[in-house]
Amino acid sequence: MEKIKMTTPLVEMDGDEMTRILWADIKKELLEPYIDLKSEYYDLGLPHREKTRDQVTVDSAEATKKYGVAVKCATITPNAQRVEEYQLSQMWKSPNGTIRAILDGTVFRAPIMVKGISPVVKNWKKPITIARHAYGDVYKNSEFQPKGPGKAELVFTAADGKETRQTIFDFTAPGVLQGQYNTDRSITSFAHSCFQYALDSRQDLWFATKDTISKQYDHRFKDIFQEVFDAEYKEKFETAGITYFYTLIDDAVARVIRSEGGFIWACKNYDGDVMSDMVSTAFGSLAMMTSVLVSPEGNYEYEAAHGTVTRHYYRYLKGEETSTNPMATLFAWTGALEKRGELDGLPALRTFARKLEGAAIAVIEGGVMTRDLSALWEGEDPAQPVTSKDFLKAIRAELESAL
Ligand code: NAP
Ligand code: MG
Repeated sequence: MEKIKMTTPLVEMDGDEMTRILWADIKKELLEPYIDLKSEYYDLGLPHREKTRDQVTVDSAEATKKYGVAVKCATITPNAQRVEEYQLSQMWKSPNGTIRAILDGTVFRAPIMVKGISPVVKNWKKPITIARHAYGDVYKNSEFQPKGPGKAELVFTAADGKETRQTIFDFTAPGVLQGQYNTDRSITSFAHSCFQYALDSRQDLWFATKDTISKQYDHRFKDIFQEVFDAEYKEKFETAGITYFYTLIDDAVARVIRSEGGFIWACKNYDGDVMSDMVSTAFGSLAMMTSVLVSPEGNYEYEAAHGTVTRHYYRYLKGEETSTNPMATLFAWTGALEKRGELDGLPALRTFARKLEGAAIAVIEGGVMTRDLSALWEGEDPAQPVTSKDFLKAIRAELESAL
C-alpha cells in the first residue's frame, strides 16, 4: 500500500515518562507504516523544557497558531519533588497552562465508549462532552479573612478615578471573604469555542449557570452566550439540525443524569473542573478520556486527559513490560489527523483516522485490553489483559484487515 500523503504539518508536542514511551510506539506501530507523517516536532519532555528554558513550549503553541492543529503527549507539571528529580533550574509552569494562555481556548473532554464496559449511569448510551471555561472566577480570586468586626465592601475605581462602592457584609465577628472576576472578552471566546465545536461535532450544546442567585455575574455569562448565538450561530445550528439550550445548573445536573448522552455540556470554570471528574469517572476510566483545546480562532490541540502515568514508568524503567492504556493518546493522534484531513481536504487521511479508531475499539470489544479496562470488563468471555505492546500489535492486526 502506498503511504497516505499529508500537505500541512501537524504540530507534534512530545512529552514525558510512560506516555512518551507509548507515543513513540504508537507512531512506529500504527502511524508511520501507513502515513507519510508530516510533523513539526517539539520536544516538551521536561529535560528539553529545562534546556530551552521552557521556550520550546511557547514555540509549540505559536506553531499551533500558525498551522492550526497540534497533538500533545502528557507532560510533567513540575513540583518541588520534580525539581529535585530532574535537577531543574526553576519550577517551570504547567505546559498546558502556557499553551492555553497563548491559544486562549476552551477544553473539551469526551469519553471513548466501548461495548462491554458500561457507564455507571446505565441510561448513558452516547458520550457526554464537557466544555470547561478555563479562565477566571475562583481560580483567579482574591481572598481575605477578617479577624474581627468590620465592613467589607466591593470597590471599583474606574480608569477616570470614579469610585463605585457596595457593601458586601457588616462583620460583627471573624469570617471569610472572596472577590472574583471574569471578562466579557473571555466569556465571548468561550461561547464561540462552544458553538464552533458543537457545529464541528454536530452535537447539541447545553449551557448552565446559577443565574437565579448570581443575578449579575452568572447572568452575564447567560446573556453573552445568547447574544453570540443569535448573532452568529442560530441559522448555522438550524441548518446542522442541532440546538442550543440554556438552563439552571441544578436542572442541568438532573437532566444530564437522566439523559442518554450525545451532547456538549458547557460549564463555568469551577463547574467544569468538578463535573468533568464526575462524568469521566462515571464513564469508566481516565485512560479512555480524550481532550481537545479549541481556540476562538479555530486552532485545535488534541491530547489525552490523563497524565504521564508515573507509577507505570518507574516499573518500565526496572525492565517490566507495563499494561498502560494507550487509547486516549492514540485518539489524540487520530483526532488531530482527522482534523488535518478535514482542513486540507484529504479524505484518505480522514478515512484512515476513522479506521484506526474503529480497529482500536474492535480490539477491546473483542476482549483484548489493558489491565485498567479488564477490571471493568462485563463481556461474556473473560477479558484478556495484555501489555501495551501486545495491545498495539492487536490493533495493528485489526487495522490491517480493515484496510
Ligand atoms: P496520571 O498520570 O493520570 O496517573 C494516575 C493513575 O491513573 C496511574 O497511576 C494509573 O493508575 C491510572 N492511569 C492514568 N492513565 C492511565 C493509562 N493510560 N493507563 C493505565 N492507567 C492509567 O496522574 P498523576 O500520577 O497524578 O500524574 C503523573 C504526572 O502527570 C504528573 O507529573 C502530572 O504533572 C502529570 N499530568 C499531566 C497532565 C497533562 O499533561 N495533560 C495531566 C495530568 C497530570 P495505577 O497506577 O493504579 O495503574
Ligand atoms: Mg478536577
